[in-house]
Amino acid sequence: MSAEHLAMGLDCLRCGRGIPFRADAYLCPSCGLGDAEDAGILDVRYDYRRAAGCFPDGPAADGIFRYSALLPIAASEVPLLPAGGTPLLAAPTLAARIGIGALYLKDESANPTGCLKDRATAVGVAMAAAAGHDTLYCASAGNAAISLAGFCARAGLACHVWVPSGVAEERLERLRGFGAVIHRSSGDYDRAFDEAEAEGGRRGWHSRSCAFNPFLVEGKKTVAFEIAEQLGWAVPDLVAAPVGDGCTLAAAGKGFRELRELGRTGALPRLLGVQAEAMQPVVRRFRGEPGGGGSGDSRAASINVRRPRNARRLLREIDGCGGTVLAVSDDAIERARRLLADEAGVAAEFTSAAALAGLARLAEDGALAEKTAVVIVTAGDRGG
Ligand SMILES: *Cc1c(COP(=O)(O)O)cnc(C)c1O
Ligand SMILES: [Zn+2]
Repeated sequence: MSAEHLAMGLDCLRCGRGIPFRADAYLCPSCGLGDAEDAGILDVRYDYRRAAGCFPDGPAADGIFRYSALLPIAASEVPLLPAGGTPLLAAPTLAARIGIGALYLKDESANPTGCLKDRATAVGVAMAAAAGHDTLYCASAGNAAISLAGFCARAGLACHVWVPSGVAEERLERLRGFGAVIHRSSGDYDRAFDEAEAEGGRRGWHSRSCAFNPFLVEGKKTVAFEIAEQLGWAVPDLVAAPVGDGCTLAAAGKGFRELRELGRTGALPRLLGVQAEAMQPVVRRFRGEPGGGGSGDSRAASINVRRPRNARRLLREIDGCGGTVLAVSDDAIERARRLLADEAGVAAEFTSAAALAGLARLAEDGALAEKTAVVIVTAGDRGG
């Protein structure tokens, strides 16, 4: 049976307007960009009744495209790196150390460029090529840029990336290796974002940013499909991930909701979003507190986001599953990073270890002694 996608419509997360599905869709026609932090981001809706009969469709070797019924595109016209299909590692020693019943690590360092963002890039590049674009761009603290650069190199597309001034040399080296055009911002990620938007938008290039592109979250949600499938179509009590813009954890939430919609699973996991104490705007919004997110000098570079672009999407998912968002210190992240390496043999990027640090905090009072949790190790360690 040949795979087909069952995307039907696009609904605005801001105003609720629904439009028919289009492969070249961008922002909501009513809301538009507005303030980038509050843009009319579209959300893909599928024919879930039909999808229930053909999900998943295809062998594990197809990676994320074995879930094509619930993707906006069934196959790519251009060659892609093989995103997804990452291991789910049981971590019993680590579970005992932090006081949780059972713990699994979803090791996203096994993706082609070493990061969960490859799942989004795969779908984004496939959709961009299908819509006839030859140049893609993004602003990124490094991982999204490296991912986009790698996929564009393989697909034969041009790639422009905007990175913060403080980006690690290792990351620049990877970007140069993939032949990306690097625009080094004079400021932080939020500044780089504005610069990318000014130039990329003006030139009509295609954006790999979850603030505009409605298809990236669809790639990222496959991490939830894999977790449930690897647990025998069961869901854990908790799923933890670091939160910057909010797209990653929101995507996992959407994936788990869709599995329940299809009747594949019976429940939703509680989502746990973790930010760094030095930069916690999503935690503030979750608590209904006004004001900025912090000073931003955390070592967790990949989540140093002052104006989160998918907070609305994430808070909706958190709300729907009884989840929570909390902040941890850089010292706690460093301890978690060491634990991941010593007790489970997983070399995580510093930012990624925030998820375990947050889970450990939640487990402190013994409340999780009987629970099963999955920590999404969003990227492997490669400096910075
Ligand atoms: C991008 C990123 C995150 C956070 O994802 P958001 O969608 O920005 O919330 C977490 N960890 C790593 C390693 C990342 O690169
Ligand atoms: Zn709208």
